[in-house]
Amino acid sequence: MIIKSAEFIKSATRPVHYPPAMLPEIAFAGRSNVGKSSLINTLVNRKRLAKTSATPGRTQLINFFNINDTLSFVDIPGYGYARVPMAVKKKWGPMIEAYLSKRDVLKGVVLILDIRRTPGIEENNLVGWLKSYHIEVVYVLTKSDKLTRSKRVVRRKAIAAALGVDIETTILFSAKTRLGKDAVWSAIHALAQSRNNGPASTRTDV
Ligand code: GDP
Repeated sequence: MIIKSAEFIKSATRPVHYPPAMLPEIAFAGRSNVGKSSLINTLVNRKRLAKTSATPGRTQLINFFNINDTLSFVDIPGYGYARVPMAVKKKWGPMIEAYLSKRDVLKGVVLILDIRRTPGIEENNLVGWLKSYHIEVVYVLTKSDKLTRSKRVVRRKAIAAALGVDIETTILFSAKTRLGKDAVWSAIHALAQSRNNGPASTRTDV
């Protein structure tokens, strides 16, 4: 993927403040500090397009980016950071659920997981929501450079099993070595081109 342009568009918390829904959209979600900004920056060859917050978890905004005028990337705030004030934590769920349930151009979610960590309750809740809204998910197992090749295989199987998903939907990735960058792009293209027209249109209860 040749990146001609990658621009921050705006931040929002509520649907009325989202930018106009013009392009197929891919959202990125993951635990605070998992490596979400590093993944986005690696994909678009920019050092600081997606920024790391000085105090992780405090900036609870959904950030929208325009990539090449053909694709929209959405950086969903990280979850699971222990020191986030309770009031902020309480707003995260409704904010994300509103986004996932209302954004018609959403084509899929890239869920970023630390390859060394077994998915917990937060991941299972999120995966449950995504399934209930019929949203396609690609699982990116990041920080793979921290494990040997044989350990990666073992962890990949364990994570897929813990999530109850097909191993083929998981991709080994490293922002440090760029392992898996092309595979993540291929998965994103496949999502963007899918006929899925977003959460609302595929739900059977609306
Ligand atoms: P975010 O909070 O999810 O956006 O996480 P960041 O992208 O800011 O990354 C959190 C920390 O993990 C930083 O210190 C990164 O340098 C480090 N990191 C992110 N991705 C990788 C990776 O693939 N390999 C290694 N070794 N470190 C990584």
